[in-house]
Amino acid sequence: MDERHGSARRGAVKGDRTNLAERDPLSSLPEELAARMVGWGEPSWRGRQWFEWLWRHGVDDYDAITVWPKSLRQAMAARAPFQRGRVFAAQMARDGTVKWLLEWPDGERVETVYLPHPWGDAVCISTQVGCNMGCRFCASGLVRRVRNLTAGEMLEQVRVAWEWAARHGRRLGRIDLMGIGEPLDNWAEVERWLELVHRPEGFGFSYRHITLSTAGVVPAIDRLAERGWPLTLAISLHAPDDALRTRLMPLNRAYPLAELLPAAARFAHRTGRRVTFEYALLAGVNDAPEQAVALAQRLRGIPCHVNLIPWNPVPEHPFRPTPPERVRAFQERVQAYGISCTIRKEMGQAIEAACGQLRRRAKEAQPSP
Ligand code: SAH
Repeated sequence: MDERHGSARRGAVKGDRTNLAERDPLSSLPEELAARMVGWGEPSWRGRQWFEWLWRHGVDDYDAITVWPKSLRQAMAARAPFQRGRVFAAQMARDGTVKWLLEWPDGERVETVYLPHPWGDAVCISTQVGCNMGCRFCASGLVRRVRNLTAGEMLEQVRVAWEWAARHGRRLGRIDLMGIGEPLDNWAEVERWLELVHRPEGFGFSYRHITLSTAGVVPAIDRLAERGWPLTLAISLHAPDDALRTRLMPLNRAYPLAELLPAAARFAHRTGRRVTFEYALLAGVNDAPEQAVALAQRLRGIPCHVNLIPWNPVPEHPFRPTPPERVRAFQERVQAYGISCTIRKEMGQAIEAACGQLRRRAKEAQPSP
């Protein structure tokens, strides 16, 4: 077990102060770092500097924080050691998509994908090692959840993408929580990450440029709505009725459409943001014209947008993607009901970096040179 998780749990038992004191610097907010600095007799602004140098400058150790006196740098190494994730392997596709396999100090690995777009680059980050949702068409669920990622580990993925962009004269404009894992099955760390990534001393991401994709964990959707952050909520729908959705996504048994769709509407009303419904088209399963009509009818009245995803092949799963002309026909049917509906352009398929193809490539991956 990762030492940081062990100490976080012990901290929780002892109470908030201890918990805060023992939290990994990479998962800490600037004010938490400031409080620790004050505890060591340093001025509190050193905490903001600490945050800034961890994220804006991406330092690997305290010795690189050149604005600090040598004595402080040395003291910090003993007071609050931290260890970054490392790029274990990297692959680039012809379309410019980059896929990294990042390794954490405990040896666990997840994938992160960089997607270049003319209108602003995006990074797709993972939120758990493995996934317990068990969606029948997805590669990530082939490995059950091993553990949650910490907020710091999620922010590390943003840093790797941010630094890659800077080195290549590009700008990272969007973050999608659409990699391995179910973000709302890791609510506490995802909520903390949402705070961290927004801080101006670090990456300063606007919530409008963040999309969180969920299989539909209803109570957590409401918790997210309560925060009121204007991020894009994407809900993986994939079926217009409960019978089919439960077959494709076992989570639907716990949170059927009669609960999920009203939660989506509540989110839209609370945040003023349209919800995106993702719908991966599987030939002969969920792509019939009647299913497009049923979908449009069910979504009526919810401020939303439908994003059709041509299914990306996963060899272990028995599905086939819907052919392009049938995808367009499905789109037109949905649009006929006045619902905005687009077809996602898939990138990175050749390096298995497309939607639903991410998995822990622990054994297969070659270390990067
Ligand atoms: N757990 C979250 C986020 C990860 S998946 C969720 O379920 O939303 C991101 C999106 O890709 C989801 O809509 C998911 O259903 C979809 N997806 C999974 N496997 C896919 C595949 N093989 N082809 C296309 N989309 C897929």
